[in-house]
Amino acid sequence: MPTSPLWRPFTQHAVEPTPPRIVRAEGAWLETDGGERILDAISSWWVTTHGHRHPAIMAAMREATESLDQIIFAGLTHEPAEALARELVGLAPTGLAHVFFSDSGSTSVEVALKMALGFFRNRGEARAKIAVMEGAYHGDTIGAMSVGARGVFNAPYEPLLFDVERIPFPAAGREQATIDALEAAGRSGELAALLVEPLILGAGGMLMYPAAVLAELARVARAAGALFIADEVMTGWGRTGTLFACEQADVSPDILCTSKGLTGGAIPLAATLATAAIFEAHWSTDRAKTFFHSSSFTANPIACAAALANVGVWRDEPVRERVATLAAGQARRVEGFRRDPRFANVRSCGTITALDLRSADIGYLAEVGPKLRAFFLARGLLVRPLGDVIYLMPPYCVTESELDALYDAIAEAPDALE
Ligand code: PLP
Repeated sequence: MPTSPLWRPFTQHAVEPTPPRIVRAEGAWLETDGGERILDAISSWWVTTHGHRHPAIMAAMREATESLDQIIFAGLTHEPAEALARELVGLAPTGLAHVFFSDSGSTSVEVALKMALGFFRNRGEARAKIAVMEGAYHGDTIGAMSVGARGVFNAPYEPLLFDVERIPFPAAGREQATIDALEAAGRSGELAALLVEPLILGAGGMLMYPAAVLAELARVARAAGALFIADEVMTGWGRTGTLFACEQADVSPDILCTSKGLTGGAIPLAATLATAAIFEAHWSTDRAKTFFHSSSFTANPIACAAALANVGVWRDEPVRERVATLAAGQARRVEGFRRDPRFANVRSCGTITALDLRSADIGYLAEVGPKLRAFFLARGLLVRPLGDVIYLMPPYCVTESELDALYDAIAEAPDALE
């Protein structure tokens, strides 16, 4: 029976071992209370872009605490949020003119959905359907689960979830079926928005699709009178090779969700960016047209200061070069597995690589998942496969020799598990 009152996320306490206790984090490394070092090859759930405890981000948070803590953000404002909103509008794809802060990727998606529905309702248009990709993951709150793939994660909560239009994932050679499905969904005239993870479905299995398909989906959604929402919670801040993944498709979404790397992964913060048209649809002397959303910690000044420092790191340090070097190093190494019969679907997108272990035991609940995790951890590597899908998403400070160690371990993994 449990020895700790802790209830951890995505953890089957009955079968999973007590996890290592981390006492220190620095760059790409974590250190346990026993002095062991662990290479964080998944950037602590994809958040730690520059590496742990980047000095500029740590200093900015320390400095912020000298003057501010949490301030209610309705009826009051503060400089860190004002400055950050200006910076984000400058960095994001063109046309995104307003910034709404929240606290997690899931809430940034909830906000996006509410903005889309509020937009049409305030304009007197009856559009309330959301189109999403099969296999998508947008978070674990009720709305975010509704627009995500249905499966073992959310089966118990199914009665709480709302219906959406699902279009197939644009697998290679089947892209037209995806486009056609979106066109068909658009014909009802009820579509409020298409919501997608641009270029790569993350938790759904690190499935990648081309920028041209993303551009076409955005075009079709808009031709049907719907908004285009990009969930860049995972893809933002350089993960796919550009600051935001949408840049590669040369599309500007009507709404963009960002979190994770927004603060360099140091402290929770999320933002939902929207066009002037969406903001203006909520701008009225009629108070019923207000955007009715808040959370207590919206625009926390310390988190905003961390995000401002992250923007400074992008401006002052060669982050784009680091991303390009990491992307090239990742792609080169993972390509080496293409002819290895023990793996399938070898793929990469910017700084992210993935490959599927050929195993009879597939899917997220595959027993091979926890076995792989234990195998990597025994070698001092934090890798958290999605079932039989092994992927790497290291911080941008990871070195060539650290990457070598990771790929050496991947090469050993299938035989070690037998
Ligand atoms: N959207 C995407 C694309 C994600 O990858 C995630 C988390 O992995 C989320 C939303 C949810 O973010 P959070 O876990 O911060 O709520």
